Formats: sequence, C-alpha cells, structure tokens
Amino acid sequence: MADQAYVTLATNDNYAKGAMVLGRSLRNHNTTKQLVVLIGPHVAEPCRAMLSSIYDEVCVVDILDSRDTVHLALMKRPDLGVTFTKLHCWTLTHYTKCVFMDADTLVLSNIDELFEREELSAAPDPGWPDCFNSGVFVFKPSNETYRSLMTHCTENGSFDGGDQGVLNSFFNTWSTADISKHLPFIYNLSSIAIYTYLPAFKQYGHEAKVVHFLGKVKPWNYSYDTQTGKVKGHTMTPGSGDLHPDFLVQWWNLYSSGVLPALR
Ligand code: UDP
Ligand code: MN
Repeated sequence: MADQAYVTLATNDNYAKGAMVLGRSLRNHNTTKQLVVLIGPHVAEPCRAMLSSIYDEVCVVDILDSRDTVHLALMKRPDLGVTFTKLHCWTLTHYTKCVFMDADTLVLSNIDELFEREELSAAPDPGWPDCFNSGVFVFKPSNETYRSLMTHCTENGSFDGGDQGVLNSFFNTWSTADISKHLPFIYNLSSIAIYTYLPAFKQYGHEAKVVHFLGKVKPWNYSYDTQTGKVKGHTMTPGSGDLHPDFLVQWWNLYSSGVLPALR
C-alpha cells in the first residue's frame, strides 16, 4: 500500500548501518509497505546511496535549518536534538498510517499486520511496563499532532531525556485506555530483557517478530569474523549487559551478506 510506510531514523553513519539492516530485514520478509528513512545532514554519501537502494524514501531532516516551532524549541532544549528529529516522523503526511521502528531493531518475520492498529500503539517497556517502549510504534502522520507534540516537548521537556519520555507523557492514557493499543511484547523484544526473565524467553522467545537491541551497546559496536560467522568480543554471560548471541549473529549475518558487499 502506497499510503502506509515503515519509518526509521539515523542521524549518523553508525545508526545508518542499523537502518540498512532493518530495511533489508523488512524487505526479506516481503513487506508490501513503503520504507522511509529520516537521516541527519551528517550521514555520509556512501551510506546515503546504500540507504537509497533499500528504502523508497530517504529524507534529510535538518532541524537546525527549520524556521518553525522546532527551531525555537531546540534553542530552549538543545539536549533534545535527536528527540525532535524523531518526532519529525509525524510530518510525513503523504502517508495515512506509519509504523516507526528504531534503527536498532531487526525484523524476524512479516509484521504488516501492525498497520491494522491505531495511533498510538506500542509494546510495554521492559523496565517500566506502564510506559510503552518507543522503539516500535504505530502512528498517524498529522501536522496538527506534530505541532502539539512540539509544544508539549518545549513546555514539559522529557522525563527521561529522550523521545520515550515525551511520547509517554503526551500519549498518557496508553497504559489504561485501550488494550488494543498494547502491542504484544514479541513486536519489540528487548534483547537485554531476555536475561531478566529467562523462563519466559524459553517459553515464548521463538514467537519473536522484532528484536530491539536496546541499550548502550549496539550490534555495530561488536566485530564479526566472516570466516567463522562468529561475533567477536561477546562474553555470552547473562547479566553482563551483552546482547543475545543468536540475535546478534542474525544481525551480523544480514549486515555482512546484505549490506557490506554493496557498501564497498
Ligand atoms: N538515533 C539516532 N542517532 C543517535 C541516537 C539515536 O539516529 O545518535 C535514533 C535511532 O533510530 C535509534 C533511536 O533514535 O534507534 C533511539 O535511540 P536508541 O535506539 O539508541 O535508544 P534505546 O533504544 O537504546 O533506548
Ligand atoms: Mn532503540
């Protein structure tokens, strides 16, 4: 459907790698939706070219250049730069419905059924389940919502310093109002949450549709041995903050086979 799209964001070349793998994973699972990536002005040309070969639309978002409320907001809250950039997805009004996905997510099967959901649908955050995790969410582009979000953001800031805080205080009835807006956890399985409830992962983990490499260390921070197909520097110790080895290997397989050869 031409009026529905997956949207992601990469403000730098590292997150661009994530976006490449995410885009490839969506294509590999035969999505019928459009793919859009918002990029920052500093993303290098080879990365842009690669993203253009995977995504239908590559939009450069330079919020510093904007002459509207965003610029004003940014002058008051320079710490929220990436957040403002992410919220820009609401301006994609040539689509009627979108699914935002963080660049550190990986799709394991077709998830186009998410477009049957309404704004704002998202999965619980593993750290505080009355908040939704903003790594995967269904939204409806609208300039009016965008302006309200900007105003909200400027006036209230973000309780966690990022987009998740802003979005949770803006869509503050998510936890109680409508259960259909709660996406199952398998649409946003935080890689680090696996070790906090291992029996549940053993029971349900095979149903996962999207993994989210949430946290400080991202897949692209590891290195990979193409000869052995192993990820290097991974200790595989539960609780060490390491990402789940199977998912990490899947990310790297896709990166080394579907992205790297064309990037050279
Ligand atoms: N992001 C970005 N550049 C940055 C930081 C974040 O483009 O320097 C985007 C990217 O799409 C990323 C999302 O914002 O996936 C949210 O940040 P991150 O995934 O690092 O947060 P976490 O999920 O670990 O809380
Ligand atoms: Mn993330």
